[in-house]
Amino acid sequence: MKKIVIAIDGPAGSGKSSSAKIVAERLGYIYIDTGAMYRAVTLEALRRGIAENEAEICKILDEINIELRTSPQGQRTILNGEDVSDDIRLPGVTRLVSPVSAIGCVREKLVAEQRRIGERGGIVMDGRDIGTVVFPNAELKIYLVASIEARTERRAKELRAKGIRVEIEEIKKQIIERDNYDSSRAISPLRKAEDAILIDTSEMTLEQQSELIIELANKIINL
Ligand code: C5P
Repeated sequence: MKKIVIAIDGPAGSGKSSSAKIVAERLGYIYIDTGAMYRAVTLEALRRGIAENEAEICKILDEINIELRTSPQGQRTILNGEDVSDDIRLPGVTRLVSPVSAIGCVREKLVAEQRRIGERGGIVMDGRDIGTVVFPNAELKIYLVASIEARTERRAKELRAKGIRVEIEEIKKQIIERDNYDSSRAISPLRKAEDAILIDTSEMTLEQQSELIIELANKIINL
């Protein structure tokens, strides 16, 4: 059977990772969370105290090895041999990940790795520039959006489940800031690819949005 590339892009909290995970599982595909890769670079830069120094980040990029492993608990992110899946979700990383992601050398390295991982197809990759830059020829491109209220609520729920104390207005502010940053950066800004299918998930359950994507994928796979 044909193994396609499914690119899922959209702003923070639009439901990308949750639905991408389900779609990959049901199709027997590999799920790649590219945001986790940008977060891992940010974490390493923070640990070295250089998160706000573009030149220093570019210098140490060769020393950063990121591996994405599939496990029964979902995708694990391994940074230089250490499982950092929890650490990359800490608020300090979230605060700085957008500026770090806007750096040219960081994007060059990670986009090259993402293309290598996905070259044989059979993947569901989520991010901000998958349909526009990483895989502009992906067989299926989805662009997810949702109201700021729905996205804030989802992010708050996720953080609460991890035992992280949340302040709703603060989360909302951070999401808006991150979206503005990601949409207005010079290199690979967040935007919908012209041929991407737009899905507004504000009023949809996770099951509904995942089913819709699977239906669209099956139409292409069974062509
Ligand atoms: O998906 P997640 O919210 O974990 O992504 C964290 C950040 O990583 C985004 O806000 C964005 O700045 C960056 N990112 C990116 N390109 C991608 C995926 C994520 O610039 N393909």
